[in-house]
Amino acid sequence: MPEVVIVGAGVIGASIAYHLAARGVRDVLVIDRGSDFGFGSTPRATGGFRCQFSTEPNILLSMMSREKLRRFQDEIGVDSGYQPLGYLFLARSEDTLRLLRDAQALQHRCGLEEARMITGAEARYINSAIGDEDILGAAHCPTDGFIRAVQILRGYAEAAKRLGVRFEFGVEVRRLRTTFTGVAAAQTKTGEITAQSFVNAAGPWAGTLGINIPVRPLKRQVAATVETDALPETIPMTIWVDDGFHIRVRDRRILMLWPDQPASDFEVEFDERWLQQLLRLAREHVPSIADIRIDRSQCWAGLYEMSPDRHALLGPAPGIENLFLANGSSGHGVMHAPAIGQLVAEMIVDGKTSIDVRALRPARFAEGEAIEASELI
Ligand SMILES: Cc1cc2nc3c(=O)[nH]c(=O)nc-3n(C[C@H](O)[C@H](O)[C@H](O)COP(=O)(O)OP(=O)(O)OC[C@H]3O[C@@H](n4cnc5c(N)ncnc54)[C@H](O)[C@@H]3O)c2cc1C
Repeated sequence: MPEVVIVGAGVIGASIAYHLAARGVRDVLVIDRGSDFGFGSTPRATGGFRCQFSTEPNILLSMMSREKLRRFQDEIGVDSGYQPLGYLFLARSEDTLRLLRDAQALQHRCGLEEARMITGAEARYINSAIGDEDILGAAHCPTDGFIRAVQILRGYAEAAKRLGVRFEFGVEVRRLRTTFTGVAAAQTKTGEITAQSFVNAAGPWAGTLGINIPVRPLKRQVAATVETDALPETIPMTIWVDDGFHIRVRDRRILMLWPDQPASDFEVEFDERWLQQLLRLAREHVPSIADIRIDRSQCWAGLYEMSPDRHALLGPAPGIENLFLANGSSGHGVMHAPAIGQLVAEMIVDGKTSIDVRALRPARFAEGEAIEASELI
């Protein structure tokens, strides 16, 4: 019987598997219903990385991940793609500027000293493509930037395999069968899989394993242009906070995001109407790219894994002793995967963690202690 069975071979499942094996857990089995790696949200991430959050748990997860990303090549033997090209949050209203200032004061208290408030003119100097004249100010952190989701997933998976972790594909968990104290088995089409402990790392599908876990899918779409040199790859991720428009450049394509309405199911069809709304914002904010064609074949949609307070659920499932949750990262799962992998492994092996993530315990909702966050998260 394996010591630990992890459901889900996305970036979070792979990171947990590696960290468990690195801490000496001998028999770790990762099961996934896909036919290979990458059947979930991980390859659909645009690869943003930031420590600029507005709550302490997210800032601390990012700062821990950042240290691990800096050592990734040495520890894992793969390039994580971490490039500190910055994140630039633009404010066009006093209310937004206040939110950014408040978030930054907290970031400084958490040790993120390099984040700073800058003027609209400075923001346009850092990213000369910004067309708006009415930027009141911005928050900028030069150590935020970009990562490569698939390289991090592959890196952790290969490193885990070298330490003896087994990955089995084409295995769909229909239900986690529970007794009074814990999970007895993962029920699949071909039979039951037993283990001492289980980890739910099923991404947006975390709530579908027969146990009530408050994680819901939320559709997110990305528009990509044809290859172009119109903007340099070195511009920071730039976000107009007042309407949510994002822009960055990856592999010579300009990628644009804009959060649309929440979807209530797992549908990921790319939506033309959304694209037209996004292009209106693009023309307003970055007029210099108005004539660059969108390449429909490179646009995509995927799913965030939303929790009720938009923060991860990390730790034992309430009332189920041997089930650990690593769910609900709410769109930040790739950047937080290095930290989450280590922390969940620590919980399982040591029963305690090296940084305080009690605020992320899954029981917080039942205890009336959901995390309060501004719109910035
Ligand atoms: C458009 C978009 C942009 C994003 N951009 C970013 C970004 O810039 N930065 C960032 O950090 N994050 C970003 N994200 C979020 C990020 O992709 C997710 O947070 C992250 O991939 C979650 O990883 P995971 O391992 O939990 O889930 P997944 O990668 O979804 O893996 C879950 C796995 O579980 C398996 N599974 C599900 N149900 C079952 C079952 N019943 N039985 C067996 N296996 C099962 C699936 O096959 C899948 O392989 C983005 C997401 C989207 C959609």
